[in-house]
Amino acid sequence: MQAFEKQSGIDHISSVSSKEEEPLLLHFERTLREQRTDPFERQKNPEEREVIENILRDMPSFVWSFGGKPVRNPTEANIHLIDTEKLSREQRKAIGAADVGGVYDIETQSAIVLPKEHSPLTTAQRIVHEVLHLNAFTSLSAREKPPPGRTPLAEVEGKKLFPRRIGFSVFDVRQTRRFFRNIDEAVIEELSARFDRQYFANIPALAQEIEKREQVRTRVGAGAEEIAAVTTVQEENGLWKTSIENWRYPKERGELRKLIGEIYQAHPGRFRSEEDVFSVFAKATLTGRLLEVARLVEATHGKGSFRRLGEET
Ligand SMILES: [Zn+2]
Repeated sequence: MQAFEKQSGIDHISSVSSKEEEPLLLHFERTLREQRTDPFERQKNPEEREVIENILRDMPSFVWSFGGKPVRNPTEANIHLIDTEKLSREQRKAIGAADVGGVYDIETQSAIVLPKEHSPLTTAQRIVHEVLHLNAFTSLSAREKPPPGRTPLAEVEGKKLFPRRIGFSVFDVRQTRRFFRNIDEAVIEELSARFDRQYFANIPALAQEIEKREQVRTRVGAGAEEIAAVTTVQEENGLWKTSIENWRYPKERGELRKLIGEIYQAHPGRFRSEEDVFSVFAKATLTGRLLEVARLVEATHGKGSFRRLGEET
């Protein structure tokens, strides 16, 4: 089985010999297994545990279906739900303003997720998004001398480790720029929507919200797929307030969709649908092999266009 799975979120550490790489990879494997309770974390309720259990169970087949290599058995402990009550007022404000749903923390091998009040469905989507980051291709580089002014992500066995590749995105040598970041986020969020479509209907704790979403989607018609969740909350004055959550990264996903459309048009007969072109992007994000996308972009927009795209995104 080993070849089809990875032992932690890290696929590879470059600029060391394979003998030196081994203990470094082992460090991240241990980190993945030995999760600590975060000071800002809260207990999960039974519904949340059910949701997480389902997501982690279905994730490997989903990742395999796009040619990726899933992380072997992450557990509920790798998902940390933030207790906003434990945050300072400034931290709460910052989180609210940034529309942050969560973060994948490479150093601690954990998905830190901000649960959405009154919407287990939105919380589940945020968990899927971060767990996808964890499963996507990640490589680090070990540096003797860190680039000026940059702090390493981790220091293991005397080696300073810096991110090199995260999903579709690529870091420059000086660690000042991260190319293709928008594409990476767009692909991960699009994958989250597909995961939802494929598996969420089987999770009892989400049934009510999914039904509600279907009703609203049917009423809306065009653009209905953009609706990720619909929440209805009773306010203090007794009135019910309904709000609609859309999938995140709309601008980035719009640009990705445009590019996919252009590639599809420029290659008549090569793809059955735009969805097949999306799969090429998804595969690149999960495996770290960008060559096929690079070729498609260059064949569509000319030589040098892939590099330009990286700089723009
Ligand atoms: Zn993300």
